[in-house]
Formats: sequence, C-alpha cells, structure tokens
Amino acid sequence: MALRYILKEDDKQLYKVSREVKNFDGRLHTLLDDMRETLLDADGVGLAAPQVGVLRRAVIVVDTNREELSPEEQIIELVNPVIVAVEGEQEGAEGCLSVPGVYGIVKRPEKVTVRAFDRFGNEFEVTGEGLTARAFCHEIDHLDGHIFKEFASRILTPEELDEMYGDDEDENAEDSVE
Ligand SMILES: [Zn+2]
Repeated sequence: MALRYILKEDDKQLYKVSREVKNFDGRLHTLLDDMRETLLDADGVGLAAPQVGVLRRAVIVVDTNREELSPEEQIIELVNPVIVAVEGEQEGAEGCLSVPGVYGIVKRPEKVTVRAFDRFGNEFEVTGEGLTARAFCHEIDHLDGHIFKEFASRILTPEELDEMYGDDEDENAEDSVE
C-alpha cells in the first residue's frame, strides 16, 4: 500500500467525469488499498478516485453509524456507485480534502441508499444516515466532476469556523466530509 497525493481544487482532473470500472482486478484492489491508507492518514470521512488522479468510478466512505468497528472496518468501498433512494433532508457544514480549511453549508438528504459493486464485482446495496449519507453524496459528486462548493449556499467565515471547531480537534474530524 502507498499513500497517494490528494489533488487540490485548482486541478482540472477534479472537474472531469470519471469512467465506469470494468475490470475488478489487482489494479483496482491496489487503488482501493492506497485510497484507504490515504484516507486514514488524512483523517477524512471519504475519498474518491479522481481525488488521487484516477478517473474511475470508485469511492470509499467511512460508515460513521458503526462506531463499534475500527476505523479500517468502517470503510465501505463503492465501485460504480449509484444513488437509488433518498429520504429526508439535512443542512450542515461540509468540507473536502481537496479544499483544505474551507467549509460550506450544503443541503443533503438525511438518508441515502447506494447500489454499488465491491472490489470483486459483487453487487450490493448500502444505506447511510447523517454524515455517512452526506459523504455518499459528496463522493459520488466527485465522480461526476463536482466539488461541494458548487452546491454550498454559503461558505463559512473564519469566525464561524473558530466557533464550530475552535477548541476541539476531535469534533473537527466528526463534522467534515471529504
Ligand atoms: Zn471531496
């Protein structure tokens, strides 16, 4: 496994549409393994392949609804993910590993069901709520070349960030989506 460099928002790759994964082979597994390591290292909630410069439809998301699991076990791999059902609404702060230090208010569904393939090509469905639902939407947007800032009703000011995240580093990790 290896850490991969996370592209920043000025990189044109982030605005391209990623292609479907067709081969569930060693190359895909290496990509997903590297993405896992990169996400854990960055202490994020999700990462999409285009963020590490690979224009393929693969994302990983930390299932924050399953706190009984270790961080590694909480990671869900979604290959060729499609949102098949949404429910409710949430509005809150969202950030991105490609846009460090910037948070915006984005409206997302409260509950999101995704149909995807695992790394071996088996189809499955998974439902996430709250932050996990937000991360599903955020990461799948990356596959279509979209960054959360496009959907933000407004960007938080430094004073608001201080208020939200000022004293507590741990809270910061809880509330951000990458
Ligand atoms: Zn992101």
